[in-house]
Amino acid sequence: MSAKIISGTEIAAQIREELKKEVAELKDQHGVVPGLVTILVGKNPASVSYVTGKQKTAHELGFNSIQDDQSENIAEADLLKLIDKYNKDSKIHGILVQLPLPKHIDEKKVLNAIDPDKDVDGFHPVNVGRLMIGGAEVKFLPCTPAGIQELIVRAGFETSGAEVVVVGRSNIVGKPIANIMLQKGRGANATVTIVHTGTKNLEAHCKRADILIVAAGVPGLVKPEWIKPGSCVIDVGVNRVGEKLSEKTGKMVPILKGDVDFDAAKEIAGAITPVPGGVGPMTITMLMKNTVASAKMHAGLQGK
Ligand code: NAP
Repeated sequence: MSAKIISGTEIAAQIREELKKEVAELKDQHGVVPGLVTILVGKNPASVSYVTGKQKTAHELGFNSIQDDQSENIAEADLLKLIDKYNKDSKIHGILVQLPLPKHIDEKKVLNAIDPDKDVDGFHPVNVGRLMIGGAEVKFLPCTPAGIQELIVRAGFETSGAEVVVVGRSNIVGKPIANIMLQKGRGANATVTIVHTGTKNLEAHCKRADILIVAAGVPGLVKPEWIKPGSCVIDVGVNRVGEKLSEKTGKMVPILKGDVDFDAAKEIAGAITPVPGGVGPMTITMLMKNTVASAKMHAGLQGK
């Protein structure tokens, strides 16, 4: 039997609808409007496109959204001053600095200057530490891993007691999703294994996964025969494997493939995410969710 396809596009749209209602209620009942600033340094086309997507979504949800464009030549000290201004601005609840930054600027220094309570990307060392401690300490989950957790939960998979195997140990996907899955609580409480290039028998680990999360960036790394029948497969990998002519635009567009052989894997797994249209659409949505959570936190409305 063919696996259920977990559509990140549909689930992200559903979460955005929920957020839209929540934002309207926050405004009507408490006079609170979530504020998100995206800071863009220079005009890198990919960064412009990412920031535009984030701003468009924020706007659609009814946020106070600000795009702050800065020159490629901005001095590091001036960028730090700008972040300090937004740290102190009570109308702003989320600050996002689009990466990469020009070479003369120390990225780490800039990201660490963001108030951890406005770090809606969830990568500030304080938020990484909070996730490690778990429970009520956690303020913001990093967006892609948080999106992965939502996909698993909304696809109806039980995580408590499940064998979760994560392929990859990056700071942006592998480590945080492993950490999220081992928290005590809903959508987690799993037995987690992380595998990487130093792992001796990748296949054996993958084969016992009830939930297999693959974030290696290697097209087709996970073979269909490594997948446990009926399991949930989350393919985070986005790999450009060529180009094709788009019928819609008449322009060349990249051909994207995941880390799992989707066509063969869907005949074995119980549920699987496609690439594209799986994890990808969740990331911006979770950024919006974090910003709403931050606005509530700053207004003392957590749990409401
Ligand atoms: P990364 O920083 O390159 O990390 C890849 C990880 O996979 C590393 O830990 C590496 O192990 C491991 N790995 C690579 N080849 C392996 C192999 N043959 N066997 C076992 N482990 C292997 O990548 P990332 O930033 O986590 O991203 C992973 C993929 O997810 C990429 O395709 C990226 O484009 C995609 N991604 C998608 C989204 C999204 O959809 N929103 C967001 C983020 C990333 P070592 O540590 O031992 O080197």
